[in-house]
Amino acid sequence: MELPTVFDLEYVTSYLSIGVVAALALTAIAALARTLFLHARLARRTRELEFELAQRQRAESELQTIRDDLENRVRDRTQALEARNEELSRVRLALETANRRLRRLVAADPLTGIANRRQFDRVLDREVRRARRERLPLSLIFLDVDEFKHFNDTYGHVHGDEVLRRVARTLDESFRRGGDLVARYGGEEFAVVLPGMDAHRAGLYAERLRRRIWRMAIPCGQAGERITVSGGVAAIAPGTPGFDDARPDALLKAADQALYKAKCQGRNRIAMAASQDARAPTPGTTERPLIELAS
Ligand code: GH3
Ligand code: MG
Ligand code: MG
Repeated sequence: MELPTVFDLEYVTSYLSIGVVAALALTAIAALARTLFLHARLARRTRELEFELAQRQRAESELQTIRDDLENRVRDRTQALEARNEELSRVRLALETANRRLRRLVAADPLTGIANRRQFDRVLDREVRRARRERLPLSLIFLDVDEFKHFNDTYGHVHGDEVLRRVARTLDESFRRGGDLVARYGGEEFAVVLPGMDAHRAGLYAERLRRRIWRMAIPCGQAGERITVSGGVAAIAPGTPGFDDARPDALLKAADQALYKAKCQGRNRIAMAASQDARAPTPGTTERPLIELAS
């Protein structure tokens, strides 16, 4: 085999060097190209990410705006509803007050302020039914101002009205148990419904009331004369005849007949309905009340 000459060796060596350099250069170029490529991809990705980020921020900001808007609307609506509710509560309260006043007005006598005939009828009907149902006594006092026409003719209607108001006030103050009802039946006539009270006690109360009015000493007509009332008392009680079929109109009629009796016997007195028991009080008179009261 023929060995290479020095020239050849140099020749080969130089070629090898060139090759190595070229290879190195190529590697370097490839690395650079790859770096540039990666860099470009990274830059593009970064731009994409920045774009996405910007979009997301815009979307979030829009969402926040919508949310704020919604919250504002809900708050406004809630405030409006609360205001409306308050307004409704105020209206309801005013309505309830007006209704109560109306009920009172419908049930009250405008001159005296006590219950009127309509309320009396309602209560008497209810109490008669209750007395029958619960088997309890029930009394009715019917009162009439004596010679009131004469009083009006002498002193005038305005003074007459004042007398009616004073009689009503006295009645109202005299019957204060829960359930008692004091009413102006009409004109100068008054009625008292006394649930749970028997005829005897009702007679005593009526007599006490008659005396109270007499003691008020409201002058009337001739010297020394004063306003007086006459009264009739009727009652129903379990165990007495007619109790099971007791009716308000029958009770009213009995009290009215008793009142008529008191008028016939001379006025300023209390009379018991014919059907009441023997323990019922005897009529009282101005000078010497025949019913002695406990108090
Ligand atoms: P008696 O003792 O029989 O009951 O006689 P009286 O005069 O009281 O009865 P009468 O029924 O004859 O007259 C009732 C009078 O009551 C006549 C009327 O002028 C009067 N009166 C009725 N309502 C009112 C009212 O609201 N105000 C006034 N001032 N008087 C009234
Ligand atoms: Mg009368
Ligand atoms: Mg009268």
